[in-house]
Amino acid sequence: MNATIDKMHAVLAAQRAAFAQHPWPSAAERKGKLKALKRAIRAWQGRVIEAVNADFGNRSTTETRLLELLGPTLAASHAMHKLKRWMRPHRRTTELLFVTNSAWVEYQPKGVVGIIVPWNMPGYLSLGPLVAALAAGNRAMIKMSELSPRTTEVLAQMLATIYPEDEVAVFGGEVEEARAFSALPFDHLIFTGSPEVGRHVMRAAAEHLVPVTLELGGKSPAIIGPEADLADAARRIAHGKAFSAGQVCVAPDYALVPRAKAAEFADAVAAEFGRMYPAVQGNPDYTSIISAHHAERIRKLVADAEAKGAETRVVGEHGPGRQLPLVIVLGVHDEMDLAREEIFGPVLALVAYDTLEEAITYVTERPRPLALYTFGLDQPALEQVRRRTHSGGMAMNDWGWHAFQHDLPFGGIGNSGMGSYHGEEGFRALSHPRAVFRRHRFFPTQLLYPPYGSWLQRITLKLFLGEIRDGGGSAR
Ligand code: NAD
Repeated sequence: MNATIDKMHAVLAAQRAAFAQHPWPSAAERKGKLKALKRAIRAWQGRVIEAVNADFGNRSTTETRLLELLGPTLAASHAMHKLKRWMRPHRRTTELLFVTNSAWVEYQPKGVVGIIVPWNMPGYLSLGPLVAALAAGNRAMIKMSELSPRTTEVLAQMLATIYPEDEVAVFGGEVEEARAFSALPFDHLIFTGSPEVGRHVMRAAAEHLVPVTLELGGKSPAIIGPEADLADAARRIAHGKAFSAGQVCVAPDYALVPRAKAAEFADAVAAEFGRMYPAVQGNPDYTSIISAHHAERIRKLVADAEAKGAETRVVGEHGPGRQLPLVIVLGVHDEMDLAREEIFGPVLALVAYDTLEEAITYVTERPRPLALYTFGLDQPALEQVRRRTHSGGMAMNDWGWHAFQHDLPFGGIGNSGMGSYHGEEGFRALSHPRAVFRRHRFFPTQLLYPPYGSWLQRITLKLFLGEIRDGGGSAR
């Protein structure tokens, strides 16, 4: 017997029952719930900061405020602002044949939404999907990661002050509980995590035909153009690699750099990182790697690359803990693990290219990433990249900020996921677009009924399809 799993089943039953009692909350009610969330985030920020910090070992307070607190606050504000418009039914045209009748789509709350959260942004990736779920009129059950237990506790307490358990519930626990959670018959499941676990989750959800949104990871490239301002690109890439120590799903994973400029670019990244983080060890601004296991995984990626001939530049001091210096890796080739695995840490792989064609091919031959960045590409080159590559989202001349625009959808493609949330797309994904047709009183649909062959039926079908000229069929 597992008490957490039993509780999940009980809460799902309670949420379903509560939903059946109140299946279509008004815009005002939904706004009220989002407003309460924003207030709670403000009131609880100190406790969230402390908890995230304790889970990571060290998480910069500013990064926690930006990611875990500002992110969902902006998402909630955006939804509150747009909600009425999103909820409006959409009038559609009928077929000409059915003119005088009416057709529309109404966006119906689905019911209970399951949300599975990774450890790297435990606030944003639980509360962000929650905003979408509540905006769409649903209830939600949230399963947090086993690697962020203190944040789980604080968020559970915080949400319990504003929502009853049959509306929003938070669960902790280990992978066993996560597995059980993903097998529950939700009305929709949003999973954020690795592509590998995403496959398990989709399989589990298939059992009950639960629709899924999969927000996965992958290797997001940054293409540095031949004419790019190297210092500017280096500053932004260094920030992308160092922000939360690279443990961000949309962090630039590797950079494609013109061959002649690779060394200069590496110097520039090192200089920019050094300016932002004069020290690594003990620097409160520099976030630790979440666990010893993850830190070891990153060290191994570097050691593997070195053993296979890479040249590495270490920026910052090594230490005994989990604040890892930035490592810039030059001479990357496909045999190296870091050319294939998502890095998810402060290691920048530099891949040299000679022509834009080569850079584009490098991207398109690999699994489709969550994000793609370009720096200093001219218009024709940009056009090529935009038309020929795929990625969940993209940003030009910077990294990551597209994910912070809550009017844009956020989601992956292929290996980086399916479906999206944030903004209107999030609302639509968690609502059922119910197709409604209303026959008006004097519309004679019975003229299309059998017995077939009346002149009206024949004329109508002839009008749309012409005569039957190839033999089959009869006048009826
Ligand atoms: P993970 O896939 O290991 O775990 C994610 C969640 O799934 C955790 O809550 C975990 O408990 C749960 N889980 C583990 N095994 C499970 C199973 N068999 N069935 C059901 N649930 C299971 O990912 P992580 O290490 O927590 O996070 C890092 C990954 O998440 C990276 O790949 C990163 O790119 C990705 N990510 C994606 C986004 C995005 O929005 N697309 C955002 C953040 C992180």
